[in-house]
Amino acid sequence: MFNRRKFIQASAFSTGAMALGQKYLNLPSGTVNKPIVISTWDFGVAANEAAWKVLTKNGSALDAVEQGVSIIEAQGTNQSVGYGGLPDRDGVVTLDACIMDEKGNCGAVLALEKIMHPISVARRVMEKTPHVMLAGDGALQFALSEGFKPMNLLTPSSEKAWKEWLKQAKYQPSINIENKLYEKVAPKKLPGNQYNHDTIGMLALDEKGNLSGACTTSGMAFKLHGRVGDSPIIGAGLYIDNEIGGATSTGVGEEVIRNVGSFLVVELMRQGYTPEQACKEAVMRIIKKKPETAKNIQVGFLAINKNGEYGAFAIQQGFTFAVCDKNKQDLVLKGKSYY
Ligand code: ASP
Repeated sequence: MFNRRKFIQASAFSTGAMALGQKYLNLPSGTVNKPIVISTWDFGVAANEAAWKVLTKNGSALDAVEQGVSIIEAQGTNQSVGYGGLPDRDGVVTLDACIMDEKGNCGAVLALEKIMHPISVARRVMEKTPHVMLAGDGALQFALSEGFKPMNLLTPSSEKAWKEWLKQAKYQPSINIENKLYEKVAPKKLPGNQYNHDTIGMLALDEKGNLSGACTTSGMAFKLHGRVGDSPIIGAGLYIDNEIGGATSTGVGEEVIRNVGSFLVVELMRQGYTPEQACKEAVMRIIKKKPETAKNIQVGFLAINKNGEYGAFAIQQGFTFAVCDKNKQDLVLKGKSYY
């Protein structure tokens, strides 16, 4: 039974939360920072550039995030997203992606093979089917029926890295601390900050004040065939609530899923946390539950609120994110971290 005392406590709490929320979320009118697009890692700069073109033409946040992350999916040089992504332990490139709009609509593809733009397939799932997720062969079948062209996603350099890995075939599913573990198994000089992971998660707020997000990855390098991480899971790798804000993640997907990370970040912003505080709290949940595991893995969250304020936090140093707004189009910032 719902007792009165509890009811009073509950309403006192929500009033408090609202008041706290107002501190961060209700800036004086006219100070909303829009349009704006933010995305994970240094390579987010190129993605933001494409998204910015959409946003400055009064385009929707949804189109912006789809077109933004597509740039990275098509870059054969990026070994953690789309074409050129590192394969699983069987040498198969499988891609995960999801997209979410301001109305709470969402779509995702899991372990999709042979298609360069999983984000666009995810959008079709959202817009053309009554479902949220399609996986594996079914996702491929759907993509083909929508006119996407199949191709070989394994580039020579990703194949070379996989063959190197096969020499030891050490199953080491922990995602690196940016640079330590993977140097042993991959070509020394991969472009940028790319080792055995990295995902592009993008969040945009358009001129109308609507939020959307996209997240796309080839996932953990040399994973078990069929393994799916957080990136295509709504609430884990990405979450948007148009009243509050949005969040996305990168790093060891298993830990993000276990803590429903991006949903958690958005709900914390609802309670009044700033984007950075919310990301930090989500990281702390992971660390508190598994302090020993957390020492050796990376997880980073990136978030934006309805006012276009943004923030990030990661377990380990080295997490970067790219910001593009009216003030600056090619900003790269270092996320704060626990270690
Ligand atoms: N989160 C991705 C996954 O677990 C990988 C990454 O972001 O590095 O598949």
